[in-house]
Amino acid sequence: VNGGSPSEPKYLPPGISQAAFAEFSKKVSDVIGAENFSVISASFDFDGYEDDDFGRNCRTHDYYRAFDDEVELVGSSLCHPRHVQDVQAVLALCNEYKFPLWPISTGRNLAYGCSAPRVPGSLVMVLATHMNRILHLDTKACVCIVEPGVTFLDMMEYLRERNLLDKIRVDSSGLGWGSMIGNALDRGGGASLYGDRWGKHSGLEAVLPTGEIVRCGMGAVQDPEGRKQAKDGVHPADQTPNESFALFPYGWGPVNDGLFSQANNGIVTKMGFWLMPAPQGITPFSVTVEKEADLVQLIDIIQPLDLNGTLQSSVSLRNLTLEAAFYGPRSDYTKSSHKELITEEDFDKAAKKLNTGRWRYIGAVFGSDRVRAALIDDIKSEMSKIPGSRWATLEDTPEEQSLVHVRATYLQGMSSMGEFQWMKHWLPNCSIIMIAATSRFEGSAVWEQYALAKELFAKAGIDYISHYISYFRTMSNICIIPYDRKDEEMRGRAQWLARTLLKEWKDHGWSVFRTHVGLMDQVADTYDFNQNILWKMHEKIHNSLDPNGILAPGRGGIWPRSYNKDEWIM
Ligand code: ADP
Repeated sequence: VNGGSPSEPKYLPPGISQAAFAEFSKKVSDVIGAENFSVISASFDFDGYEDDDFGRNCRTHDYYRAFDDEVELVGSSLCHPRHVQDVQAVLALCNEYKFPLWPISTGRNLAYGCSAPRVPGSLVMVLATHMNRILHLDTKACVCIVEPGVTFLDMMEYLRERNLLDKIRVDSSGLGWGSMIGNALDRGGGASLYGDRWGKHSGLEAVLPTGEIVRCGMGAVQDPEGRKQAKDGVHPADQTPNESFALFPYGWGPVNDGLFSQANNGIVTKMGFWLMPAPQGITPFSVTVEKEADLVQLIDIIQPLDLNGTLQSSVSLRNLTLEAAFYGPRSDYTKSSHKELITEEDFDKAAKKLNTGRWRYIGAVFGSDRVRAALIDDIKSEMSKIPGSRWATLEDTPEEQSLVHVRATYLQGMSSMGEFQWMKHWLPNCSIIMIAATSRFEGSAVWEQYALAKELFAKAGIDYISHYISYFRTMSNICIIPYDRKDEEMRGRAQWLARTLLKEWKDHGWSVFRTHVGLMDQVADTYDFNQNILWKMHEKIHNSLDPNGILAPGRGGIWPRSYNKDEWIM
């Protein structure tokens, strides 16, 4: 840790002296422009974020400070490349100096580490600042090619300005501010028919750690125009992509796109996506159930409907705590302190006050009037088998139940910033860690995992915020751990809870599909079949693509051979 001089970073990366850093940063500044480079010094106000800053983009660190007790996940400096050539030039310098580089798109990564690099002192590369063009939009095929800075909101505005929303919709995350590329690479999920973000990508361009540019899938096939451009010396990144880049994801040969997702083998500079053709009509609906244990019957009703396509959108189930948080601070519902749990009596009162149940399922059906009416009929009659369940379409949902209205915007393929607004008020300095486990898509299996998580949340003295989402043939048990980031003691309990959940899940043979940067090593260790052979293979591939081990060391629990893994894992 360095002092407070503005040119001295708070953290230097391993093996880099202050003199080498000064030399390296001068070269980076010379290449990309001084205005596109800055040092993260110790004098930076790391705690200067307030609750109202929820919408601010923190590029310097994990502003929820989730795992800072262990290793402070803060870079040495930030750079903002203007184009792919800058990305290559910075990579060349990182290779020369053996300087770790952490690429991000917008770096929001809410509850998974924000912009925090795994290795303190890394150079954080913010791709979104300048590389934010929509390069291609085919309104007939409903596909696009974008750069890392294009957010869901940007895409929606682009479609709105061109009066295209009656043709095309864009599936959004809970927060429209995220990068389409960043979210897909981290395998985030959305709500509508197009919720499987990674599954809806087609074609990508990446700069390898050594600086070469590759295009995966059909992008690797050069068309006559591209061949002519190549002959004329046009830079590869500027050559016209093949017409099937965003149409057909596989191409021929090994499908290597996965090397760039939740990994550290390249910097993705372009990606193709399938967008949602605007459906003839959309009917959002919601169902609530009265008892916590109704979750079991609800899941068993949902599963076959999900499997046979009656339920078209991804299933989203929220517990009462998550619903209540949307409408007000914790103190509106309980007199208990942050060290105690909200009591059952408090929950009963909250359910009454909000006129809701213990779980709320929000979904939608898509298609013509006749198709939607038939689907709604089937779904409604199945859901009403649960005693005490309450059913409403969006039209019948009163305005004050605004959560349903907000969620419905995503289901309609429209981006917004509504869903996580509860974080502004639930606790003082409210922060969250999210861990997303998977379980079998069966009532009893979901309940077993839910009950275990509930027990551990209770041990930690933290209210269990639960959001279940269907993901292929599993239910994703997204555990949201809320804490006051300025309360050391509570932050410690949140950390304990995250690590203990992972440990207990591992004992059951369960694991997660997405995680916080500070938990990646622990998660990687749960993939332990045949003595963790899969991670050993990831590391072999990484070592061959990144011989100097400069790109996002430790991302995904994948460590280059130049790092002593045993010393680094946390
Ligand atoms: P979002 O904009 O959805 O919040 P981020 O930009 O934070 O997404 O991306 C999530 C994570 O994915 C980052 O922490 C980084 O590790 C990785 N990532 C994001 N964009 C890229 C990219 N263009 N190339 C390589 N890795 C990326």
